[in-house]
Amino acid sequence: MIDLRRDTITLPDAQMKEAAFDAVLGDSVYGEDPNQVALEELAADITGMDSAIYLPSGTMGNLVALLAHTNQGDEIILEMNAHIRTSETGGAGCVAGVMMHPIHGSDGIPHSSQVKAAIRPDDVHYPRTSLICLEIPHYRYGGIVPPVSQVESIVSLAKNESIPVHIDGARIFNACTYLGLDIKQLIDGVDSIMISLSKGLGAPVGSVLCGSVSFIDKAKRYRKMLGGGMRQTGWLCACGIVALSHDNILKLSIDHELARKLAVGLNKLREFSVDLTLVHTNFVIVDCLEPNTTAVKILEILRSNEILATQAGERRIRFVISREVSSENIEDILFIFSRLFE
Ligand SMILES: *Cc1c(COP(=O)(O)O)cnc(C)c1O
Repeated sequence: MIDLRRDTITLPDAQMKEAAFDAVLGDSVYGEDPNQVALEELAADITGMDSAIYLPSGTMGNLVALLAHTNQGDEIILEMNAHIRTSETGGAGCVAGVMMHPIHGSDGIPHSSQVKAAIRPDDVHYPRTSLICLEIPHYRYGGIVPPVSQVESIVSLAKNESIPVHIDGARIFNACTYLGLDIKQLIDGVDSIMISLSKGLGAPVGSVLCGSVSFIDKAKRYRKMLGGGMRQTGWLCACGIVALSHDNILKLSIDHELARKLAVGLNKLREFSVDLTLVHTNFVIVDCLEPNTTAVKILEILRSNEILATQAGERRIRFVISREVSSENIEDILFIFSRLFE
């Protein structure tokens, strides 16, 4: 099976396996796992933040960030289809005890004027607005990268209002690849960022959360509280160090090239349409223009050809490209699509 449902399916490559095999282990809860310490230092260094922690998942990374930035009863501002709101099991409300103030932003980010209007005045009736969360790239809108100018204007607004900004940067390096920007430039002025190691970067497990020393000190306590103190993490963290290496990050551009190849090829077919202006990273969303078929039917045909993709609407299909997908796989998919209506 060629799996294009998600990029979490990536497996460690030979270099990661070797690094894991050779890893010296220690108890990470006591700060004694050399690879976890090194991974956390590397993550802080790459992001230009003062400190970082390793966590078992992106969901825990975001939740720990909410806990460390806010108090119960506070309100956070985020895009209405943000992963934190739609795909993290309500942890923001249930565990962090915050209210969510959702704003629609079709570019994957709200407009800064909308954010400004959503900030609560200092009044005893209102919850305190204590965090702004941005998701870069935006997952539910097909891995799109919001305009950098909009990120900058929200960050500067937040500074003026003394409200911290957290980035859900599960795939931040895909955004950096698309923009041709160093991560430090893209996240300049933000207070914290969560980055997944287990998606396009290929590590088997884990995420990192980066921020100031005092923020990470708080985050460490919440990580432990939530059960994220994992003892001998060295095997996983050794993979994470390879995941964050410069050469490994560069490989994301191959995923993007393949996504574009698939998108352009599908868009050439009479019965299909892809908005090529929205193919920014490793996601391709294709609409079938033929009213007599459905995404479900097409997905069945793909499955019978050992290709997996996701339904994203009545006649809409989503592909996510990762390093497990080859150029030949893309050609096979295009060939199958070209024959669908023969
Ligand atoms: C995958 C993802 C997460 C959560 O990561 P998990 O490791 O799956 O918990 C958070 N935000 C975004 C945008 C994601 O795509």
